[in-house]
Amino acid sequence: MADRMKLGRIDTSKPVCVGIGWNYLGVSVSKGVSPKQIAIVDYLCLATEPYLCVNECSSCGARYFDRRNACANCGLHEFSQVRIANSAILKAFSIVHNAAPGIQVPFVSAIVETQDGTSVRANIVDLDDPMKVELGMRLGLTTYVCGIDNEGTECVAFGYTPVT
Ligand SMILES: [Zn+2]
Repeated sequence: MADRMKLGRIDTSKPVCVGIGWNYLGVSVSKGVSPKQIAIVDYLCLATEPYLCVNECSSCGARYFDRRNACANCGLHEFSQVRIANSAILKAFSIVHNAAPGIQVPFVSAIVETQDGTSVRANIVDLDDPMKVELGMRLGLTTYVCGIDNEGTECVAFGYTPVT
């Protein structure tokens, strides 16, 4: 039980991302982000400059976007939240030509590697021509509105876009 209590432990010396803006021990502080936006996943932080955050194993450094009871690499139980780099390179991709109704095709489904070595599954967006993606191309994190509910609240998703 003592080990379980360590899960999700909050380091009070650092702000912790919980979806929108920053959260200081449960008190949400918006950083220039519209309160009418929510992130599509918990690990997308909608700060002034959006970023992704991971749960990093305190022992071996393995990183996970979802919450884990134990590290799949070393088996230990302690994690801390870490902001990952927004710059990345394209490591693998697939150009998708068939998708559910309403989804524009073709689009590029990819695995990118951030500058600090984190693998991220995401789409490559804002491409002039999806057929011209290349392995190793330089990318940056970007966000976009992927849906709006009846009350006008925007759902914000992330992807990576080419940078020069
Ligand atoms: Zn580990």
